[in-house]
Amino acid sequence: MPNKKKQHTMKKNILFNLFILFFPIFLLAQPKVIAHRGFWNTKGSAQNSIAALVKADSINAYGSEFDVQISKDSVLVINHDPHLWGYHIAKTSAETLTSLGLANREAMPTLIDYFNAAKPLKTKLILELKSLESPEMESYAIDEILKLVKEYGYEDRFEFISFSLHAVKDIVKKSPSTPIYYLSGNLSPKELKEIGNVGLDYHFNVFNKNPEWVKEAHDLGLKVNTWTVNKKEDMQKVIDLNVDFITTDEPVLLRDLLNNSL
Ligand code: MG
Repeated sequence: MPNKKKQHTMKKNILFNLFILFFPIFLLAQPKVIAHRGFWNTKGSAQNSIAALVKADSINAYGSEFDVQISKDSVLVINHDPHLWGYHIAKTSAETLTSLGLANREAMPTLIDYFNAAKPLKTKLILELKSLESPEMESYAIDEILKLVKEYGYEDRFEFISFSLHAVKDIVKKSPSTPIYYLSGNLSPKELKEIGNVGLDYHFNVFNKNPEWVKEAHDLGLKVNTWTVNKKEDMQKVIDLNVDFITTDEPVLLRDLLNNSL
């Protein structure tokens, strides 16, 4: 009888050790939260503002996404739309652009402003290069971005996303160690793997149509991000699909949903 008791205790110990061993893996398997255009949907913030970057960091978002374009005089600036207050970004000088106020009255930041503000923070910098006027312009922007990333020592904090296939192929060539994601949703995981080590960052509807792409991507060693997932039920769907990252305008809602599912 004492032996039986001993065996039972040993079994219990083994199960407990297995639980301890695999519990961190379980935690790691949860998707990571990326704040779309920063955490802007909150007081004092605005899309693509420095405040949105700081606020994304303050809620421990894995990453803060932002959009990069280029001014008439070749300065990299942060904004989503090609226009702000009637000024066409590609046809306006950086001096004028940085005098324009965002919705929270902060000035439009340059990429240098953004990188400076990121210094004391830990959130990853998820940089989207918008499709620019020519492939040459996109290649120029990539050279400038990579130069700055090196100067600031952000190699381990910087991830690159774009709808432009040219931009994606160009950065694969110039910086293959950068995590690179394609946004357009029209290429399969296999096609992306053939371009280089390019992950998927697709609208969640793409995964509703091709749910098998998540596993296919993982089998090929690729990561999967999805955007812009703002409703609880859509969040739950992509969590169940086992994506690696979720990009959202509602990072607190997503964080709380993930915490509650532990
Ligand atoms: Mg974007």
